[in-house]
Amino acid sequence: MVKNITIHITISTIGLNVNIGEQVLKLLKEEITEVEYNRYIKHLTYDIKNSTSDMAIFYVPNILVSNWIKSRYSSKLSHLFEVTTGDQVSIDIRLKNTQQATQTQNGDPQISKTNKNIKQSLLNPSHSFDNFMVGGSNQFAYAAVKSVSEKPGSTYNPLFIYGGVGLGKTHLMQAAGNVLQNQGKTVIYITLEQFLNDFTRSIRNKTMERFQEKYRQCDVLLIDDIQFLSGKDGLQEEFFHTFEALRGKGKQIIITADKPPKKIAGIEERLKSRFEWGLVADIQPPELETKIAIIERKCEINKVKLSKDIVNYIATVIDSSVREIEGILSKLHAYSQLMHVDIDIEFVKNVLKEDIKEHKQNISMDMIIQHVSKNLNIKPSEIRSKGRSKNLVYARRIAIYLCRELTQNTMPQLAKYFSMKDHTAISHTLKKIKDLIENDEDFKLKIAELTNNIKASL
Ligand code: ADP
Ligand code: MG
Repeated sequence: MVKNITIHITISTIGLNVNIGEQVLKLLKEEITEVEYNRYIKHLTYDIKNSTSDMAIFYVPNILVSNWIKSRYSSKLSHLFEVTTGDQVSIDIRLKNTQQATQTQNGDPQISKTNKNIKQSLLNPSHSFDNFMVGGSNQFAYAAVKSVSEKPGSTYNPLFIYGGVGLGKTHLMQAAGNVLQNQGKTVIYITLEQFLNDFTRSIRNKTMERFQEKYRQCDVLLIDDIQFLSGKDGLQEEFFHTFEALRGKGKQIIITADKPPKKIAGIEERLKSRFEWGLVADIQPPELETKIAIIERKCEINKVKLSKDIVNYIATVIDSSVREIEGILSKLHAYSQLMHVDIDIEFVKNVLKEDIKEHKQNISMDMIIQHVSKNLNIKPSEIRSKGRSKNLVYARRIAIYLCRELTQNTMPQLAKYFSMKDHTAISHTLKKIKDLIENDEDFKLKIAELTNNIKASL
């Protein structure tokens, strides 16, 4: 039953307490003529209360504006939401009945000057250093970004941060951006995709000069997801000159990517080497303790109450991406609100059933054996053998338990894999491990850590 509810979570419930709609409209303003803006876009009001992470609701005063906006701007708005929030957002334009219709005229918008005052930098204010939980997996990157935010342009320039999806690269980079922007510096935050769009638009509109001026005159340039520069020669050339101009003036550049500079294919050597001139720092998937700290912090920010047991449970069953953790918390929060129930462990297990099933399909018994083998320093073949030494039996029991918990194999399948007589032998082993987990805190932690490592390796 739980599964069938569709949830729409307002952006503000997941910690993004900013009016994204307003920000997107500001961005759009930069892209269109003043006449267009005043005639149509100005009349849009964003419904922050009812908009969700996948649907943005705007109100317009009359049907003419509504039709025009729907046909002309929907996809643009949707795109701007996507580059701003990372989510695919559909646009819902509604009539505001109470509002008097304003007279509008239809006419082809002309492309002319964009707003010269490029102050907009779409920094999310909740992406702060305070909200960023530091652990072994991200402390190097954290320290590097922090140091750059204290001494921009002089310590590490450029600072290049790389790591997998949802591990906090954008968050960290924007945290520095927020600090510097609050000091009055002109900060441009832009994804490579936005940069590309701006570039092509400037070529089309013959406004390259303005484009160059904008990016070469800022104090801090934050370029997100630069791996997409791959194969785009014209843009690389342009970026190279932007880079040289900024660095020459001692202006700070922070870059993120999903891999280190050397590994990004299709990028000119001169750019790759420049990316390494400052400092290259990586972010790894969070360890168990960091995940727990992140969950606790997110709960605090979003006023969600979860017991310690539930926090630990989520941290162990859910994958290593922080974005996924956020999704789970939003889901739990929304379900419990909709169904008017408190969040207890059974409820959590029920809600997360599907997510967990998905993970189980990706974990193999061989993978588990590899991890146990490494952790306990026992050969994989020995774990699966019939050997009776104490260490072997211990490792085998743990492996069997993890295979049962983390994969979808049945007891007879487990028995066969571990060369055991039949499924009763497996069930006997499982009982032994469960008893140990219940009675031995250290052992419980060991199992949690192994589980975490296995999932993080996916
Ligand atoms: P990336 O850019 O690496 O894909 P993001 O910076 O967008 O990842 O992070 C995804 C989400 O997880 C964001 O909402 C971010 O605030 C959050 N997040 C990531 N790492 C941390 C952390 N260490 N502490 C708190 N929140 C984090
Ligand atoms: Mg990112």
